[in-house]
Amino acid sequence: VPGHYVSESRFKAQMALISALGMKPTSLMELYDGFQGRAELPPKPVVITFDDGYESFCSIGLSVLKERGYKATVFLVSNFVGKTNIWDQEKGDVMEPLMTRSQVLEAVANGMEFGSHTKTHLRLGEVNPKQASEEILGSKIDLEEWLPQPVRFFCYPYGSHSPEVRRLVQEAGYAGATTVMKGVNDETTDPFSWGRINVRKTTSAFVLAYKLFRTRRVL
Ligand SMILES: [Zn+2]
Repeated sequence: VPGHYVSESRFKAQMALISALGMKPTSLMELYDGFQGRAELPPKPVVITFDDGYESFCSIGLSVLKERGYKATVFLVSNFVGKTNIWDQEKGDVMEPLMTRSQVLEAVANGMEFGSHTKTHLRLGEVNPKQASEEILGSKIDLEEWLPQPVRFFCYPYGSHSPEVRRLVQEAGYAGATTVMKGVNDETTDPFSWGRINVRKTTSAFVLAYKLFRTRRVL
């Protein structure tokens, strides 16, 4: 969706803000281990997530993140790696290239983490359990065939899920899943409905600061 693409200058400003606030971008794995008491978390941990795996993550995002030594998590649509965002184009949105396998592997080598965002980007809350399971488990199996790291985290397309879908995600062997619900997570949050803070094209560093301060628990 065009409203979700952030420009390079805006992304740099957002990362400068994260740094100025003393927040430490970690991977979801590190955050999860911290919540489980298996690892020490930095004082203000934050996870930067990117849905869909656009090529612009490699051409723009990766260098900005690398410069600061930050990690991020990207959720891939397994059937469309190296292709384009067909699911958006069906609704008349712009065509955007998605990362290829070699771009994903390069990002992994730079410390980035990859999760699953289903096989075909459908609304899991609206399909039958068999189809949901094929998307949830199938995408994990497909991605793990070529990724050097296990796929531990999942992201519900359009934030669409249900108790049944959350159960299928857990049964498939994922450790957690992100929604589009606004929220800050801690060890008491259900790991299969983690909240996020939405960052859009219009989210200036100033607006992001407001969104972060509003949560109060982060700062
Ligand atoms: Zn998506």
